[in-house]
Amino acid sequence: MTTAFASPHWQEATQAVADAARILLVTHTKPDGDAIGSLLAMAAILADSGKTVVAAVDGGVPEYLAYVPGSAAVQRTLETGDFDLMISLDASDEARTGECGRYGMAHSARILNIDHHPTNTGFGHIHLIVPDAVSTTQVLYDWFALAGWAISRDAATALLTGLVTDTLGFRTNNVVPHTLMTSAALMAAGAPLHDIMTRTLNSTSFLAIQMWKHALNTVQYRKKVIAADITQDVLKTLGLSQATDTGGLIGFLISANEAQVAVVFKEQGNTSVELSMRAKPGRDVAEVAFALGGGGHKLAAGATVAGTLEEVKAKVMPMLYAVARGKSPFADPEPEDA
Ligand code: AMP
Ligand code: MN
Ligand code: MN
Repeated sequence: MTTAFASPHWQEATQAVADAARILLVTHTKPDGDAIGSLLAMAAILADSGKTVVAAVDGGVPEYLAYVPGSAAVQRTLETGDFDLMISLDASDEARTGECGRYGMAHSARILNIDHHPTNTGFGHIHLIVPDAVSTTQVLYDWFALAGWAISRDAATALLTGLVTDTLGFRTNNVVPHTLMTSAALMAAGAPLHDIMTRTLNSTSFLAIQMWKHALNTVQYRKKVIAADITQDVLKTLGLSQATDTGGLIGFLISANEAQVAVVFKEQGNTSVELSMRAKPGRDVAEVAFALGGGGHKLAAGATVAGTLEEVKAKVMPMLYAVARGKSPFADPEPEDA
């Protein structure tokens, strides 16, 4: 399932930046805190060293992340320009970088792929892929230190945002002393930890709470798998074009002591379903996500799967029942009635 990762190309990456005048930064669509944090930390560092920088992500920066310095300059679309270097941040495959990434691939001389997903496909010419890193911003922090680039308060705020959000406030099982030492250094450089925590982890909207109300009504628990749906009907009732704040919902579901695996099915029209999956330590939902054309980490992964809600559930649930019991999802998928 995973790409064999050579050691990260630290020196080649530093050289590629030195050789480039015009640099494009892209990240994954529906960006989270690590996506925006790594995009804007990179933008701040490159601007400080006099590069011409364009940062773009389809649809722009979500409102709750607008506090990250530099967010106002992020483009929502990308239709012009040619670049010496494109840097892809926190995206495990090309398709995840959306339309902005597609344009960038076609209009950039070289591509630097910076990420921490074990499912990274290894696209691009130069790789800084560190699957043990808690966030893409951790990879950036280590690179900036090696390269000797000073971290401003703005860059520190962006970097700490990625560390905080991808570790759910330092609660994930990959947090190590280096995570906390990095965070302490970023706070010392001026990053406001409490403000970041409050804006990203302790904030929601009434609309999201109404969506939770409907989703919790659909919760089912079976064979150590806890599952919920967000249907098109519910989204229509709430006047939403897509589900919001599902990270919080799936995080809540996996907190059930009985469950080994949690899944939220988000219906996208009648043609596809977006999956959010979580696992308890010792289980692995990334391999299921990867097999379905998505990706992620062992304990947090996702994919978009073609089909109706019923078809996608019939395909995915047997795999998750097997994973929840510690078995291979491919060798031993468990039917609903086994
Ligand atoms: P989510 O459930 O959306 O919070 O995503 C959990 C993890 O899975 C994150 O690391 C995402 O980057 C990854 N992920 C989610 N959806 C996809 C997808 N369609 N393709 C690749 N990775 C995904
Ligand atoms: Mn991300
Ligand atoms: Mn990440």
